[in-house]
This record gives sequence, structure tokens and C-alpha cells, in this order.
Amino acid sequence: MRISLQNLSFAYDSRPVLEGITLELGEGEILALVGPNGSGKSTLLRNLAGILRPTAGSVYLDFKELQKFTPRELARLFGAVEQERHVGFDFTVRELVELGRLPYLGRLERLGPEDRAAVWRAMALTHIEEFADRPISTLSGGERQRVFLAIALAQEPKALLLDEPTAHLDINYQLEIMEIIRERARAGLTVIMALHDLNLAAQYADRMALLHRGRVLALGRPEEVLTPERIKEAFGVEVAITRSYPTGAVQVQLLPPARAGQGLARLGPDEGRDEDGGG
Ligand code: ADP
Repeated sequence: MRISLQNLSFAYDSRPVLEGITLELGEGEILALVGPNGSGKSTLLRNLAGILRPTAGSVYLDFKELQKFTPRELARLFGAVEQERHVGFDFTVRELVELGRLPYLGRLERLGPEDRAAVWRAMALTHIEEFADRPISTLSGGERQRVFLAIALAQEPKALLLDEPTAHLDINYQLEIMEIIRERARAGLTVIMALHDLNLAAQYADRMALLHRGRVLALGRPEEVLTPERIKEAFGVEVAITRSYPTGAVQVQLLPPARAGQGLARLGPDEGRDEDGGG
């Protein structure tokens, strides 16, 4: 699904939080939203999902305005994983993933064979079949995160909206989640995800949008967006940018404040690349 945001603005009460956001995403593209805490990433995702209504501007999904879709249609188009992931009852993994089929069921209607097939497909894609009958409370953080992704995939959406899908996970689980997301994007899902880890974003995103105070400070390929100047402007820290040797992805290295000037001089862009053998 193509997603287009035209000059989107949003305010909580009268406090502006997003201002003039314009973005275009193609089918199967992965866009990472990065930026400091409070820059508006979650608010942008909620505007896209139709949970919040923009105060100005518009969102188009395959050229149709978002406001013209019913909530049920939007629930079929978007699989969302929100940042706050609490489960009130101790559901089993399978029962939770079945919730992903709600947008397809009538009131009091039970799951049909197609729904069950979609649930198992989603569990297979996220490698959680073996946990199907376990209560969610007995799973580790990384396993649980995969369950939330499975709920979103069981919706058989055309796009994924993910708010910090790897938050609080060990690196092995971070990679596992990102690999599943990349695989789904290759299968055609459009992905927009808020990520606080710039290096993980650089490694997996086709493009990045750097948000700062509710505006897009930079939009483009990771190597275009992640520059020391922009990161300094958005986050107020000094960094050096290098290339990862095995993947070729740009990598952000924090420099300690006292040595920042010295470090930048020593690790100029060309030198950094040579040292890492990439580029
Ligand atoms: P991010 O996801 O980048 O951390 P958020 O979208 O959560 O940023 O927040 C952007 C701004 O909107 C912050 O200043 C935050 O305090 C404010 N905000 C978030 N949610 C609400 C809300 N429900 N009511 C009022 N202000 C909010």
C-alpha cells in the first residue's frame, strides 16, 4: 500500500506536536522514524492509524483519503504494535493472536477456517507456534514482542505501524524482530516504525525521517539523514559517522563530550571509512 502524508499537522488541545509533515511511502518500503523523546514519533503513528485526527493536512492510502475509510477498514489495512503493550488477562498466545482477526468477524461470529489459517500463518512467520498454548505471562520479553507482531500480522494488513518494536530487547531478539519485519516488507508490506536505536534503523530502513520538535528535519536514505550536524541539532550530542564493515550500513558512534572536537577531527568521514574497511 502506498502511504502519502501531505502537510500533516496535529495538536493536543492547542499545543502543536506535529507541523507540516509531508512523506511518501511506496509499497514494501521500510521507513524508520527517529528523533529524540517527545519529537512526535508516536503521535505521527497514531495519526496514521486513524486513532488521532490531524488538525490540518491529509493522509492518503493508495490515493484515497484516510478519513474516508471506516475504522474497520483501517483495522484491516494497518497492523499496529503500540508502545504500551499490556495484556489485562492471562490469555494464551493463540487466543491473543486470534484477536488479530477481529476486524474480519461480525459481532459474536466465531473464527472460521480462513481465520484459523491466518492465525497459524502469523505464528509461523514470527516463530511462536511452539508457544501457542502458553499463557502470555510465561513468555520472555523477546517472545512476547513476537506475539504482538503476530497479532498485527494475523490482521493480514497492507502496512505495519510499529512503535519501538525492539524496546527492552537483547540484541539477539532485536535482530530477530527486525529480520521478520524486513521479510514482511519484501513480501510487500509497507512499514513505518519508530526506533530509538539509530544504528538498527540505519541497518534495516530503506529511508529514515528524522523528527525534531514535530517537524521533519531530514528525510532520505540513512546515509543522507545521519550526519553529525543533524544529529547534533536533534539530539544535542557529538557523533562520528562510520560504515559498518560487514553490512555497509552507516553507523553512529557517540563521542564523549570532552573529546568531541578531537574525535571528530581524528575520525573524518574518509578516514573513518578506511579504518573500518567499508565504504
Ligand atoms: P515520541 O514518540 O517521539 O517520544 P510523542 O509523540 O509521544 O513523541 O510525543 C510528542 C509530544 O506530544 C510530547 O511533548 C508529549 O509530551 C506530547 N503528548 C504525547 N501524548 C500526549 C497526550 N495524550 N496528551 C497531550 N500531550 C501528549
